[in-house]
Amino acid sequence: MAPELTGNVYDIQKFSVHDGPGIRTDVFLKGCPLHCLWCHSPESQGFGSDLAYMEMKCVGLAACGLCEKACDRGAISPGTPKLDLKGEKEITCPVIDRDKCDICLKCAEACPSLALYDPKKPMTVEEVMKVVRQDKKYYEKSGGGVTISGGEPMSQFPFTLALTRQCKEEGFHVALDTTGFAPTEKFMEILPYVDLFLYDLKHMDSSRHEKLTGVPNELIHRNAREIVKAGGRLQVRYPMVPKLNADEKNIRATAEFCVEIKDGIDVVQLLPYHKFGATKYDRLGKPYKLPNVEAPSDEFMKEALKLFQDMGLPAMIH
Ligand code: SF4
Ligand code: SF4
Repeated sequence: MAPELTGNVYDIQKFSVHDGPGIRTDVFLKGCPLHCLWCHSPESQGFGSDLAYMEMKCVGLAACGLCEKACDRGAISPGTPKLDLKGEKEITCPVIDRDKCDICLKCAEACPSLALYDPKKPMTVEEVMKVVRQDKKYYEKSGGGVTISGGEPMSQFPFTLALTRQCKEEGFHVALDTTGFAPTEKFMEILPYVDLFLYDLKHMDSSRHEKLTGVPNELIHRNAREIVKAGGRLQVRYPMVPKLNADEKNIRATAEFCVEIKDGIDVVQLLPYHKFGATKYDRLGKPYKLPNVEAPSDEFMKEALKLFQDMGLPAMIH
């Protein structure tokens, strides 16, 4: 018997109201070919395993210490003692030397409180569907459904295709949250099973796009045009990051591109940059790349919104 198709999932969030219409279940797949400087989900970037550590779940080395014993590379040592979450007693939590760690995950297997864990969870389509089906009545009441996100879900194409097909077969509305960076023929193949593409536009100048994300933008723009030409619907998302892609020239160029593909656009969402993902970098022992960038002001966002709306686009700040 052929092995069952599995995808590497790193999270499933229920009752989401931000990633498409109505109440949704968001399925996040691991791995992305882009490395956006402002990425707020570093656990989604790599295709393989990671060792993550959530200090608030750790009971301390004196009370437990199983991770330190499990690590035969000497990568775990005691950190500086600090007060526990209740502020009642001092505990010493482990510190991971990421240069010594080879992500063997023995410590995560030994950790009883899941303070140490691998975000990657291989799941079959049916395992994901079991979670998706639990909220069927909420999708029906709210006009919601399933959003497949990442990472870049098109990077796990066979799994994503199978999942979208199964969702459609069971009558669920399907949104696909994508960078647009995947072969055009794959978008054409999956298009009949996707009701809405949540589609990012990050910078209109290709060399600047490559500096900010690691890849040029021509393929992304071509795919947006082809999806619209083939009858697909887009919810365009423009993450606006001060100093990087939120200057007037790029705002105007982004709006002009949206006007070009306007017939296929349901809404353009302007997403003001935020730093909510910074703590996730700590969990993985990775440096946060934009410590000195602040969120854009409300006034700035309203001006950008006006520019989009004045060009006849159905835009909103999200
Ligand atoms: S994952 Fe890293 S820290 Fe954990 S046991 Fe393996 S080498 Fe040690
Ligand atoms: S095994 Fe887990 S709970 Fe125990 S000390 Fe290590 S991180 Fe903390």
